[in-house]
Amino acid sequence: MPTPPSPAVDSPDAASSSPASSLVTFDNVARTYEMGSEIVTALTDINITIPDGQFVALVGPSGSGKSTFLHLLSAMDRPTEGTISVGDWDLGSLTRSEQARFRRSMIGIIFQQFHLVPTMTARENVALPLILAGVAPADRSGRAADALEVVGLGDRLDHRPSELSGGEQQRVAVARALVTDPPLLLADEPTGNLDSDTGEQIIDLLEHVHREQGRTVLVVTHHFQEVEHVTERVLRLRDGRIIADESC
Ligand code: ADP
Repeated sequence: MPTPPSPAVDSPDAASSSPASSLVTFDNVARTYEMGSEIVTALTDINITIPDGQFVALVGPSGSGKSTFLHLLSAMDRPTEGTISVGDWDLGSLTRSEQARFRRSMIGIIFQQFHLVPTMTARENVALPLILAGVAPADRSGRAADALEVVGLGDRLDHRPSELSGGEQQRVAVARALVTDPPLLLADEPTGNLDSDTGEQIIDLLEHVHREQGRTVLVVTHHFQEVEHVTERVLRLRDGRIIADESC
């Protein structure tokens, strides 16, 4: 992992309660948008700590702030108030290139729409983040194959997305998110494009990765029922606020 460019800001509460184990801290975070003379509040008063290794579900209706939360946590956006830290990274202070470095080293993201490159094989898709991370060509292919093995696609290395089912495509996307060995895995409505049985298999795969590899997982979903049997915690968002933070 590269040396972070700047230490996390002091967060006395987080520091005193769980110094070694907290991976993510939101401290008084807000994100507002100016729309002409109006201020739109997408998120406000967000104070949470996610310990390293926890499986968390973030649920809420449309417009509750889920995407804004994910954009902030993946350093695609900055808070207008407060501080966010992930490991030793203070996300509010990063330059563009540091944001990219943060994303490459600290997080893997799985999207509802898979976002695979259609002309590339499964193995080439999974190897893409390794190119960005500067991994030597000789190592990429084997690491991509290993990640595809973990998600049960060791026999589909040379298939293109159009030659795979929806569930298999999402498995490739999970392998791509894992291949750089990030501590934090973010899944944005990962079952939204799948039938319910296939969706359940993807949730079970995320749980497997969480349990076997000790990875911290945050799943954003409209449907709490689909993650209820695996998640350790649920954060409920409404109108930009966390209205419930419950252990499961
Ligand atoms: P969700 O992902 O839960 O549907 P969002 O995070 O997309 O919710 O949006 C939360 C609120 O912030 C919504 O009211 C939305 O209209 C507003 N919002 C999000 N992005 C912007 C933006 N770029 N400009 C103005 N308002 C925005």
